[in-house]
Amino acid sequence: MNEAPPIIVGAGPAGSAAAILLLSNGIAPILYERQATPGDALCGGFLSWRTLERLQALGLAPGEASGHRVDRLRITAGTREWSGSLPAAAMGLSRRRLDSLLLDRARALGAEVRHAAVRHEEGAFRADDGRALRADSIFLATGKHDMRGLARRPRAAAGQNPFLGLRTRFAPPATMAAELAGTIEMHLFAGGYAGIVLQEDGSANLCLALRKRRLAEAGGDPLRLFDQLAGQPGPLGLRMAALPEQPRVDAIGQVPYGWYAGRGAPGLFRLGDQAGVIPSLAGEGIGIALASAELAVQHWLAVQHWLARGAGGAERFQKAMAARLRPRLALAQAITAAGVSARGGPWLARLAAIPGLSRGVAGWLRID
Ligand SMILES: Cc1cc2nc3c(=O)[nH]c(=O)nc-3n(C[C@H](O)[C@H](O)[C@H](O)COP(=O)(O)OP(=O)(O)OC[C@H]3O[C@@H](n4cnc5c(N)ncnc54)[C@H](O)[C@@H]3O)c2cc1C
Repeated sequence: MNEAPPIIVGAGPAGSAAAILLLSNGIAPILYERQATPGDALCGGFLSWRTLERLQALGLAPGEASGHRVDRLRITAGTREWSGSLPAAAMGLSRRRLDSLLLDRARALGAEVRHAAVRHEEGAFRADDGRALRADSIFLATGKHDMRGLARRPRAAAGQNPFLGLRTRFAPPATMAAELAGTIEMHLFAGGYAGIVLQEDGSANLCLALRKRRLAEAGGDPLRLFDQLAGQPGPLGLRMAALPEQPRVDAIGQVPYGWYAGRGAPGLFRLGDQAGVIPSLAGEGIGIALASAELAVQHWLAVQHWLARGAGGAERFQKAMAARLRPRLALAQAITAAGVSARGGPWLARLAAIPGLSRGVAGWLRID
């Protein structure tokens, strides 16, 4: 067995899930997280039915999250729209609530949580005090951006015209709240898309993913972009026009949609967005975070039992994870590219009406 406990860096969904699974198997990891309390991350307000199953398997009782139940999907592009039922019930839930629930569960099982930003320097992972972390295995769960000092993902990962994310939360007017009840809306427009879902407190989470160039066309000002979208005919225009004045907008840049870790490094298990970044339109990033934690812990445990000192476990895990991710990422990338093109959005809204197609695609985008 390892002398030093495994280390997990990042207490988002992937890191906390890995901690829960290790602890459930009698292994006590050390979990490093740079934030003192879970923040309300911009990304991940929609939890798919598969993600909900995984959360239950991690010990979260059904209903514990008390999120907003979502049964229907509505897709719009310009004045065209389609709506239909999802394959199973999903949920709108804030990231603050999700991350808190998972971290609390890890703590309840005995996780040791240290609040420090970890960086990679002089060939070692180091906490704030500069001391090297002693571990044979590191579970890297730090999200979509590179860790300071660690070999960068290829620059091309985010592309020439990368995606960025914008989010605002607001109290919807009564008519909008009634229309959004039980529904996730996906509005496609040239250069991006906007998802809207209600969350546990009745607030509406409006999250946009768009090409950098699209924001540049609005002078780099999110509020000007919102005004431009509010002027468009169709359901998105109506939603944007109903936003409060001067809403608070959170932003995240350079999202490397479609990137995945093809090869692993000895002892380094890349989880969640460090394993692969699926376009948010799929609503499966959190599912991937949880699935990668499950698979990584399975590989880590197998290696501990049968081989010496973690040899090969991380590399085998990363290869297996990449094989699961590749087809989902390719499909989500293709849908995203079509959906954000000027003509593609209306075509997708038309295709969505083919009986069974949307449900089939929605099901197929889930990670197994
Ligand atoms: C615009 C947008 C919308 C999205 N919407 C959805 C959605 O509705 N549904 C869905 O399923 N997915 C969605 N996603 C994807 C989803 O948010 C991510 O896939 C998911 O958050 C990945 O989880 P993670 O645990 O890997 O990383 P994160 O959630 O990013 O968590 C990383 C954690 O690591 C910590 N950390 C980072 N660096 C360090 C460090 N150096 N030291 C210590 N701690 C560190 C952070 O503070 C954080 O707590 C969306 C993505 C985008 C871009």
